[in-house]
Amino acid sequence: MRGLGAQLPTTLHLCCPAVIRYNRYGNQKVALGLVQAHVLTAAESLQLIAQEIRGCTRCALHHGRTRAVPGEGPPDARIMLIGEGPGYHEDRQGRPFVGPSGQFLDELLAMAGLRRSDVFIGNVVKCRPPQNRDPQPDEISTCTQAYLFRQIAAIQPKVIVTLGRVSMGLFLPGEKISRIHGQPRTVNGRLVVPMLHPAAALHQPQNRPLIEADFQRLPAILAQAERDAAPTGPAPGDEEPPVQQLSLF
Ligand code: SF4
Repeated sequence: MRGLGAQLPTTLHLCCPAVIRYNRYGNQKVALGLVQAHVLTAAESLQLIAQEIRGCTRCALHHGRTRAVPGEGPPDARIMLIGEGPGYHEDRQGRPFVGPSGQFLDELLAMAGLRRSDVFIGNVVKCRPPQNRDPQPDEISTCTQAYLFRQIAAIQPKVIVTLGRVSMGLFLPGEKISRIHGQPRTVNGRLVVPMLHPAAALHQPQNRPLIEADFQRLPAILAQAERDAAPTGPAPGDEEPPVQQLSLF
C-alpha cells in the first residue's frame, strides 16, 4: 500500500448536497449524494502541513522550540534538500538554514547554478533539539511520518539531497556518509544523493572541497534523474519507512 499522499497526495474537501431527481409523475426517482471533492494542489498541501507543524505538540521537541521550521521552497521543486533539524538561528526565525550554515548552503547552491528559490529546503525534524543534540529515534519517527514524508509526496522531487548523517540514515540506513557522500543512489525509484552537512565543512575545513565537489555534480545528477523519467515505484516518502531504518538512529 502506498502511504501518505501517494494515492491521495492531498486532502479532499467534501460537501454533500443531496441531489434528488423526480420522474415525470413527481415521484422520487433517484437520490444521489453528490460529493464535490476539492483535491488540494501541492502548494495547498504544503501550506496545510506547515500550519500543522507550527502548532504541533506530537513529540517532546515542541517544549524547547521558539518557532517550528516547516521548510520552504517551490511546491514543484525538482530538488529537495533535507537537513537534520533547526539550529539556533532557524529556531529564532522559523526558516531553514538561515545561520552560517545557510549562508554556506547558498554558496554551494550557486556552485551548482542554483538559487535557494529553485529548491525546497526542509529538515528531518521541524523543532530544534536542545543544545543541538541529535534528534532521538522516536522524534524522527514521529515527525517524518507526520510531516516530512507528506511534504515529499506533495512535492515529488526528482532528486533528494540528504545533508548529514541523520538525514541520510532515513533513506540509506547502515551506510557511512564518509564512504558514499556525493554518490546518487536510487531509493524506491527516486535518486537520493547523500552529502555532508554544510556545518561539517564549516567546522572542519578539510571537508569543504568534498562538499563543494559534490554540489558541483548536482546538475548532472538532476539531468540523469530527468532522463530516467518519472519514477514508477513507490518513492521515498510514499511509504512509511521500514522499522529497521529507524532502529539505526
Ligand atoms: S519535532 Fe516534529 S513531531 Fe516534534 S513537535 Fe516538532 S513538528 Fe511536532
